Amino acid sequence: MRPSLLNPLFAAVTSLPGVGPKQDKLLRYLLSREETPRLVDLLLHLPSQVIDRRARPKIRDAVQGTMVTLEVTVDRHRPPPPRNPRAPYLVYASDDTGDVVLTFFRAKPGYVEKLLPMGEKRFVSGTLQMYDGIPQIVHPDRVLDEEAIAKLSGIDPVYPLTQGLALGSLRRAVAQALQKLPALPEWISPEVLRRCNFPPIAEALTRVHQPVELTDILPDQRFWSRLAFDELLAGQLALALIRAQLRRPAGVRNAGDGHLRNKIIDALPYALTSSQRDAAAAIASDLQQPVRMLRLLQGDVGSGKTVVALLAAAAVTEVGKQAALMAPTEILARQHIKTIAPLAERAGMRVAILTGREKGKERREILLRLAEGEIDLLVGTHALIQDDVIFNDLALAIVDEQHRFGVRERLALTSKGEAVDVLVLSATPIPRTLVLTYFGDMDISELREKPAGRQPIETRTIAMSRLGEVTDSIGRALQAGKLVYWICPLVEESEAEGTEHLANATKRFESLQRHFGERVGLVHGQMKGAEKDRVMGQFAAHEIGLLVATTVVEVGVDVPAATIMVIENAERFGLAQLHQLRGRIGRGSEASTCLLLYSEPLGEMSKARLKVIRETTDGFRIAEEDLKLRGEGDVLGVRQSGLPGYRIARSEVHAQLITQARDEALRILKDDPKLKSERGEALRCLLYLFERDEAIPLIGAG
Ligand code: ADP
Ligand code: MG
Repeated sequence: MRPSLLNPLFAAVTSLPGVGPKQDKLLRYLLSREETPRLVDLLLHLPSQVIDRRARPKIRDAVQGTMVTLEVTVDRHRPPPPRNPRAPYLVYASDDTGDVVLTFFRAKPGYVEKLLPMGEKRFVSGTLQMYDGIPQIVHPDRVLDEEAIAKLSGIDPVYPLTQGLALGSLRRAVAQALQKLPALPEWISPEVLRRCNFPPIAEALTRVHQPVELTDILPDQRFWSRLAFDELLAGQLALALIRAQLRRPAGVRNAGDGHLRNKIIDALPYALTSSQRDAAAAIASDLQQPVRMLRLLQGDVGSGKTVVALLAAAAVTEVGKQAALMAPTEILARQHIKTIAPLAERAGMRVAILTGREKGKERREILLRLAEGEIDLLVGTHALIQDDVIFNDLALAIVDEQHRFGVRERLALTSKGEAVDVLVLSATPIPRTLVLTYFGDMDISELREKPAGRQPIETRTIAMSRLGEVTDSIGRALQAGKLVYWICPLVEESEAEGTEHLANATKRFESLQRHFGERVGLVHGQMKGAEKDRVMGQFAAHEIGLLVATTVVEVGVDVPAATIMVIENAERFGLAQLHQLRGRIGRGSEASTCLLLYSEPLGEMSKARLKVIRETTDGFRIAEEDLKLRGEGDVLGVRQSGLPGYRIARSEVHAQLITQARDEALRILKDDPKLKSERGEALRCLLYLFERDEAIPLIGAG
């Protein structure tokens, strides 16, 4: 249960005076919550800017266009004349150097009179303008008396807002929430507090919401950083706690003696690269450990991850347990089973596929065999995580191209067995910081070598205006029996397989068909699975030579004989995507060519991207360049600069803190694995505060 100490922070925002149903709706939207936000949500919504109202010039010295706070005496009111009620309400005020006009449009009756009483002294702040040669402030942001201004620093926070939500009302709500802040125990260790110069959390929250210095709201300064560290520590601690609990019962091992693995290796038409061998050995050793595996296998497209995954599954089969391999698309799942099935068969492993396409009786039979333990490795798509998919004894979950799956889907798969070992395959090198925030401390294997015999890919950029020449050269290639992919552009703004996207591909398909007739095929995301397979099959069998495709071929599709790829409007694709697409060629024994067609004029960003992709085929380098060009968050398609599931920590600013939080979490687990000490109590508080308390039931009451 949440410590009662925190209850005030988890009260609904609507419990604050002045926050009604209308604000509730707006705040839900602003703070991305389905239910009424709590005070804690408000407090963790940090300012993005400040307004500096500290300048206090005399009227005569005030600079036009700047933000000023004037100390004035109210001289005269001029409400709009009755015959022209839409005229502004003017208030004339002055100091000993001059006059200023304060202008209010559509003021409610009585409002201005109360705000600026005649003859009184007031502090008025806003942007100074000149109107007919007279200084003027239209709708002053603040009008305060002597007592009120003494309490303010003159620096106001500005928050990200949403349409209809006034800055003032959000500020008032935050100020009230700050009042409710309970005295929280310190959960960060003295060493880290000292090393990072962190203030206590109450001070950190107060200073970002009520800045005293302009820099107080900057993410890289100590106040925001303290909060980011709290958030990261909560995340790292939760991950570490969960992981530590997932110990295997004594004597249980998820890898056998290697007899199946050896049969598979013997059946391979090639020798494993040494990095494939290393990865397979690391996985096998993880599977023997008393703690469950959490391993990321990174390797460029075509580096041969599938066979490593199969060897992992075989190790599990050797002890009579089951494995699952989940791929993000149906094409990819089928590709996997095609590679895997013949090898598995040679070793006597029983494999099956389950996607949205297996229905009715077929599906029921698969599920039955699965539950009986008659399937050793089940390959599939999202279909694997449906509730009625029940394994006899799932021991290993392999997730391919994991960034396409949400955390929920990954968890759903691993929850289908006891302390399931997890192997994640990724062709997009994931920055260490993101791996940590996603998974906590995860082991990483890399396939850096390309399998032997790979041919280089020559990449060229060509203006769309030369489409005719390109078509002619494709014609010659088809004549020579080559297999060619023709990738059609994405629609701007949307990576979805939208209808417009489809229209692009269909149009190109039709025009190429006019040139090359029967030799042209089309595959896109809105085609039925069987239809897609049929066309892909025709392509692989050389029945068609030119395959027009949307980005459905992006991941994993493997037709080694294909040696040419044309990418239309290449400037619209991201670097990672271009690399993925291009990875469909250069897989066989022949040299390959990739033609990047672009429409002019090219923006700076597109130019830079195309240059990178032309210069290298090394996925790790491309990922690094991608990071430089776009910022880390985008690598996984995460909102700009945000970390998935994090509100305060930012990947680009707090990368250092992520590893520190990881180290701190590991130290805590070593010293006090059940969080029973006084500091352990405080850490429980932290976990509840950031709602990372899912692991607490596992370690029991404090
Ligand atoms: P990816 O890492 O992109 O998933 P795949 O596992 O699909 O790569 O492998 C790409 C191709 O390379 C497949 O055709 C596979 O059979 C082949 N391959 C894998 N390992 C080797 C190797 N050691 N030597 C030669 N070819 C290999
Ligand atoms: Mg693959």
